[in-house]
Amino acid sequence: MKYLDEYRNPGIARRIVDEIHQVTTKPWVIMEICGGQTHSIIKNGIDQILPKKIELVHGPGCPVCVTPLEKIDRALEIAAQEDIIFTSFGDMLRVPGSQKDLFMVKSEGADVRIVYSPLDAVKIARENPDKKIIFFAVGFETTAPINAMAAFQAKREGLKNFSLLVSHVLVPPAMKALLSSPQNRVQGYLAAGHVCTIMGIEEYKPIAKEFDVPIVVTGFEPLDILEGILQVVKQLENGKAEVLNPYSRVARNEGNKAAQELLKKVFKISDRKWRGIGEIPMSGFELIDDYAEYDAEKIFGMGNIEVDEPQECISGLILQGIKKPNECAAFGKSCTPQSPLGATMVSSEGACSAYYSYAKR
Ligand code: SF4
Repeated sequence: MKYLDEYRNPGIARRIVDEIHQVTTKPWVIMEICGGQTHSIIKNGIDQILPKKIELVHGPGCPVCVTPLEKIDRALEIAAQEDIIFTSFGDMLRVPGSQKDLFMVKSEGADVRIVYSPLDAVKIARENPDKKIIFFAVGFETTAPINAMAAFQAKREGLKNFSLLVSHVLVPPAMKALLSSPQNRVQGYLAAGHVCTIMGIEEYKPIAKEFDVPIVVTGFEPLDILEGILQVVKQLENGKAEVLNPYSRVARNEGNKAAQELLKKVFKISDRKWRGIGEIPMSGFELIDDYAEYDAEKIFGMGNIEVDEPQECISGLILQGIKKPNECAAFGKSCTPQSPLGATMVSSEGACSAYYSYAKR
């Protein structure tokens, strides 16, 4: 298939791997930001064919994984109420809250529906004027435009029974927070290509400069990832810290201007809590005041939910690149995809799930 097969070519992969071996002289720690990249790395065994001096650590770019537990618990409470149709992408339904998940709430009689687009939820709102329809808007900059479009469309139609439970997070502030941590090990980043497709690359330049880290915009196919690693290692070996974009076939340096304009019309940037990491200043989207009537948090409130994370789960350390999934005592024992303790095992983009699915290491 065009644009896929040519980025999975084993001969070219071998040549890039050889070049990475040739240019690597010192130990380097490189973080891939996105869970999709983590899955590609583990699935294709990329981490095992690199020089031993290069360590790949897995970043916080899994939106399901970083959604705070209290927000999931509140989603469960709202979904269980009368006259509610609670909608979400499928991967959120299995994410465990403190006691249950959305599938369990659905099995208890709540009207919880999987949708493939928030615009499907708008359609449900149109067709069910006597119900309140909520869409669980979880994600990074990548999915924010379509969620913004859903709110925009609902407002344009004057729908009064649609709202978004927003848990959107932004990648650059998280990259900065990780680099600022005293525990930081990251020396170079593979930036998330799909996020850059929307937002462009400008936000990364001050980070590369301030922290002296190379940042390479990277896609998701094996050759994309190998090329990203090669360009990070070359910079590290040569003492450079630039933002490069070898993923320009998809991500233009300026991003998608129309999507950025839509985001500005609907969302504003605010502080956001990340599960396993804590609050990061100005790292999330929330609806602007003009869209308050479409904000499920304002309509239903967040309540006073106290949550306890499972003691044995170290997903917070994994999301910060400090530990690997196979360093968790529960991995593959009390925690499996069938019975997950933490979101990094349940999410299709989670690092624990990748290790379990492809390597069981
Ligand atoms: S294996 Fe399970 S318990 Fe361990 S860090 Fe991953 S999600 Fe948490």
